[in-house]
Amino acid sequence: MTEFVIPQPNVASLAVEGQKARFPLRRVYCVGRNYSEHAREMGHDPDREPPFFFGKPADAVVPAQGEVPYPTLTADLHHEVELVVAIGKGGKNIPSAQALEHVWGYTVGVDLTRRDIQAAAKKLGRPWDFAKGFDASAPANALIPVSKVGHPAKGKIWLNVNGEPKQSGDLSDQIWQVADVISYLSEAVELKAGDLIYTGTPSGVGALQPGDVVTGGIEGVGEFSFTLGNKP
Ligand code: MN
Repeated sequence: MTEFVIPQPNVASLAVEGQKARFPLRRVYCVGRNYSEHAREMGHDPDREPPFFFGKPADAVVPAQGEVPYPTLTADLHHEVELVVAIGKGGKNIPSAQALEHVWGYTVGVDLTRRDIQAAAKKLGRPWDFAKGFDASAPANALIPVSKVGHPAKGKIWLNVNGEPKQSGDLSDQIWQVADVISYLSEAVELKAGDLIYTGTPSGVGALQPGDVVTGGIEGVGEFSFTLGNKP
């Protein structure tokens, strides 16, 4: 057993639907932009740039239920509903054709974003870290193992604020589907069991206010409902 000079921090983890045992979290990756605004016509592959990634701390993952705190340092907190992939088997340079074998399960989550901090960072050429990686910035539902949920590749993905529809898309609109996302990501870093990937959001992102009720889901994957806390 390794000895530590201070008490060991808790291992971040996510609930698993219908089980007491939890999924331990190692790293959280997010895809920057992954839904085409338009339906693809004519069977052409549109010009695609490789996906880009950013991260959130593992302990930013919180249940997408009850109250989620409204963060500090923002007046423009945006919602981004996303399909979340949990990696159960690590690897590097994983070919797309084998990528789904590395998935443990899926769920729906929200990539909360301090858009004003992000806009300032973009303008100044600074990192996005504090726009994306703040406390409780990654609400997510309990994970569902592949044995129960399969590999969702199509189905409605949506988010409402106070009952009003804000985001609506379909998983099949993803520019890079899960297998490609895993393949690209595994070229940049070695993936390990316990990693999560937020796979990008459809259009319709917008600002949330303290006290807003945020609901949403993915067809075949599940639905969530949480309330934002008061302004700190
Ligand atoms: Mn996002």
